[in-house]
Amino acid sequence: MRIAMLARNPNLYSHKRLVEAAEARGHEIQVIDTLRVYMNITAHKPDVRYKGEVLPKFDAVIPRIGASVTFYGLAVLRQFEMMGTWPLNESVAIGRSRDKLRSLQLLSRAGIGLPVTGFAHSTRDTDDLMQMVGGAPLVIKLLEGTQGIGVVLGETHSSAKSVIEAFRGVKSNILVQEFVKESKGVDIRCFVIGGKVITSMMRKGAEGDFRSNLHRGGNASIVKITPEERSTAIRAAKTLGLNVAGVDLLRSNHGPVVMEVNSSPGLEGIENATGKDIAGQIIEFLETNAKPGKTKTRGKG
Ligand code: ADP
Ligand code: MG
Repeated sequence: MRIAMLARNPNLYSHKRLVEAAEARGHEIQVIDTLRVYMNITAHKPDVRYKGEVLPKFDAVIPRIGASVTFYGLAVLRQFEMMGTWPLNESVAIGRSRDKLRSLQLLSRAGIGLPVTGFAHSTRDTDDLMQMVGGAPLVIKLLEGTQGIGVVLGETHSSAKSVIEAFRGVKSNILVQEFVKESKGVDIRCFVIGGKVITSMMRKGAEGDFRSNLHRGGNASIVKITPEERSTAIRAAKTLGLNVAGVDLLRSNHGPVVMEVNSSPGLEGIENATGKDIAGQIIEFLETNAKPGKTKTRGKG
């Protein structure tokens, strides 16, 4: 197959592994710098241009669109979809997952366990908002944060309130969430491919940090998940419409709760922790599913 991978940095572990796995399985794969792609969007026959040339037609595209380039990256991915190239994850699904509020609304509608979460624009009702999610200590998150940046623990009522007001003061959208303290700085990353949890790991934050992100100094180890955790992860990925997803769960007193669903989950932490060839499994999934014109979002918004 001829595969395109939208990625800014070909040297990242995940990107190198996907290229390696695709080539090992006999495919041709080209890494395309998302921000160097341009297109004539009014053309009758859509095409994609790259560094002065028209790109050839690809059978499949692997979007690895960084959080900071979501807007342009999704426009590029849509252009591939309009040309009938099969996306590993669809633009619409990635768009949902990038907005924490939108994803939580969809997950809640599907009846999936979530931490009690509130959202507001005005700061006039901050006290009531905080009370609604159970009061301090509580977690305050930037809507489009990633890698643990923009996730703050407000330990007391007054510190939580100051953080909320400070974020609102700089016009950032935030959500306020019940602090699941019984999870003790540990979360579970379930790696979902094609409706199955193929492996999972437990991440523990650095000493003194409630955030378990590996980018914030957390460490990972293999973990056995419960059937309820497995089905929660599968339903979460399905609800957002993602074929490949990293579903992050917390073990709360009221069962597994989904914190977020990542559409470009990193491979380094999980391959190292589990010893599995996840890149290979992603390419295998793509081989069985990529059919020209099978793009569901074709022609849609
Ligand atoms: P990001 O997108 O920046 O990774 P997350 O929502 O995943 O943001 O939060 C980062 C980390 O903070 C999580 O992995 C988890 O360890 C911790 N965390 C987030 N929300 C909660 C919560 N409600 N209760 C307890 N810990 C949380
Ligand atoms: Mg996270």
